Amino acid sequence: MLKLETSIQYLTGVGPKMAEKLKRLGINNVRDLLFYYPWRYDDFSHPVLIRNLRIGCEAIIKAEIKSVKKTYTKRRWMTLIETILEDDSGEIKAVWFNQPFLMTILKPGQEWLFAGKVNFDFSSKKKTLSVTQYEKEPITLPVYSETEGLNSKYLRKIIKPLIFQVDSLIKEFLPPNIIKNQNLIDIKNALKNIHFPTAASELEKAKKRLAFDELFLISLRMLTAKQELSKSSAIALLFNKDILQDFVRNLPFQLTNAQRKVAWEIIKDLGRNVPMNRLLEGDVGSGKTVVAAMAVLVVACRNYQSVWLAPTEILANQHFQNVAKLLKPFKIKTGLLTSANRKANLEQDNLIIGTHALLQKNIQIPKLALIIVDEQHRFGVKQRAHLRQGYGGQAHLKIPHFLSMTATPIPRSLALALYGDLDMSVIDEMPPGRQKVITRIVAPQNRLKAYDFIKNEVMSGRQVFVICPLIEPSDSLKVNLFDMDRKSAIEEHKKLSQKIFPDLKIGLLHGKMKSKEKEETMKKFAQGKIDILVSTAVVEVGIDIPNATVMMIESAERFGLAQLHQFRGRVGRGKRQSYCFLFSESPARSASQSDAGGWSENNKKRLGAMIHCHNGFELAEKDLQIRGPGELVGLRQSGIPDLKMASLGDTILIKEARQAAQEIIENDLESYPLLQEKLAEFETERHLE
Ligand code: ADP
Ligand code: MG
Repeated sequence: MLKLETSIQYLTGVGPKMAEKLKRLGINNVRDLLFYYPWRYDDFSHPVLIRNLRIGCEAIIKAEIKSVKKTYTKRRWMTLIETILEDDSGEIKAVWFNQPFLMTILKPGQEWLFAGKVNFDFSSKKKTLSVTQYEKEPITLPVYSETEGLNSKYLRKIIKPLIFQVDSLIKEFLPPNIIKNQNLIDIKNALKNIHFPTAASELEKAKKRLAFDELFLISLRMLTAKQELSKSSAIALLFNKDILQDFVRNLPFQLTNAQRKVAWEIIKDLGRNVPMNRLLEGDVGSGKTVVAAMAVLVVACRNYQSVWLAPTEILANQHFQNVAKLLKPFKIKTGLLTSANRKANLEQDNLIIGTHALLQKNIQIPKLALIIVDEQHRFGVKQRAHLRQGYGGQAHLKIPHFLSMTATPIPRSLALALYGDLDMSVIDEMPPGRQKVITRIVAPQNRLKAYDFIKNEVMSGRQVFVICPLIEPSDSLKVNLFDMDRKSAIEEHKKLSQKIFPDLKIGLLHGKMKSKEKEETMKKFAQGKIDILVSTAVVEVGIDIPNATVMMIESAERFGLAQLHQFRGRVGRGKRQSYCFLFSESPARSASQSDAGGWSENNKKRLGAMIHCHNGFELAEKDLQIRGPGELVGLRQSGIPDLKMASLGDTILIKEARQAAQEIIENDLESYPLLQEKLAEFETERHLE
């Protein structure tokens, strides 16, 4: 009998070869297949007119077959079926490769619905349709993410028979009162309709149910994690008021009110005997370092140890210098531990600064009580346990306190969904007297003027960043016909070093470089051996190059506002006035093409916001409204599982799902065995640790 765990290779129509391909899509068993949702639907009930077909788009037409012809391709001798399709508005050529049997199916005079991609045939200078699907009836068909040699048609074929068995395969795991209160359909109907919707309204209900499930299970998992953590114990580290006051008095500046507030939240947490689990958010330059240093001081005064993890070696070095200086008057011993540098004494140092990579190693820090992590929001329980190992005596039952820091501005609505298990502290105020980075949108005709400006800056000893959305030019062709104007770092680097600034030193940085190379390049830039650094978005968060005064961003409309803001935060860190130039390639493009990825009213509005707004949170909030959450920078390292159905922009559903999860936890999850089972499944399916 078929079970959810049944391996896909036992299904009709799936041999070892196809099973291999399905595995590439993450489909190993019947469950994976049933929960492999379509990403869109071909709605054959709404064909468009041939006259209105646009090159590069997917479309469905309803047309009569005027002629069918079988020929062969010039190269590779494949059969080619060519048909001319016609509707009231015009005609178009449609082609199929390697499907000779179509001669017996498609007959002149018949009317069919055809779905496919509209291409441009350069030899005839006409549009053609590459048909992916043809149907007699105006039905709605699911379209799945495909892989080479495995298309949606095949997936439909193997999923369809499962749909008839959903009733026996799937058990409802949501308690009836949640289903009722949230006005949801049951899981069986949801699965049936997500694959083969019987009506548009049913599809909507299915989507809502499955979206709710995701958000609900994520919330449930976070709340259970939170609950578990609150049951474990940590060392309560009471602060010494005199020393802290001394520290604050010794600083070369006054703490902002926001810094005081969050420092106090952290210090209170440290004083409790349950582990702190806190996320400290603050814009670039808002002064998180000094706050974290205060936490280190509290720990050290009680003779315990802290580790401070940075995402890269350079940042670890940077922290090592800054933090050691801050804490030196208090006799705090600080060590550095990176792959290149092992100046730490794990037994004796009060603070050990290192890279995330250190976690992989079997390091033992005997009196570890606090872990601080930069730009890695979530920190697994396992990772924590790992660092805890060295804990001697009975203290091994204690879990270190945890403080994560990020410059990624996460709007409140999202934070709830993403970090439900973390407490949040926000520094929402910048130290006084910070210069504003002058931001301009540069029209294409003013590009040379901008280059002149850059040249002047470099001549007077400054440095410049140039950010591009792509690594290589070829990336773009794969993405979309309309993406051809996206700039690539490699090309720009070539152009700048050969044509525009042949006498300047131009560096290149992108994600396909080895990490050694990347570090080497960043080091050179930091040492002033590179004048202009051309980079993709990899350019590190938090890197401090006070001498850089210009941030130039190519194809700026391709980035989220929060991300642009973070790029901008790379300059303006020294005393000199700094500038951010936003380039956008095709502002003249008509609004009608905006949906294909070009310039649009939205883009104008978005980039315009950059000129006046210098607050990362406000910008993130704006972008969330305009574009939705998909593009918010930092979400990738946020540790949230990929959402298949739910949208992080759906704040109402997020709230409801969280509320429902909260009620379950209060009631005790143990009394919902089916739900518990589902949660465990979800965790493995989404690779949560
Ligand atoms: P981030 O939050 O991006 O980590 P940092 O902690 O690196 O920011 O702080 C940026 C700079 O601001 C540092 O040079 C730091 O010494 C300085 N700074 C921090 N707090 C204040 C303050 N209250 N007043 C003035 N300067 C401050
Ligand atoms: Mg920092």
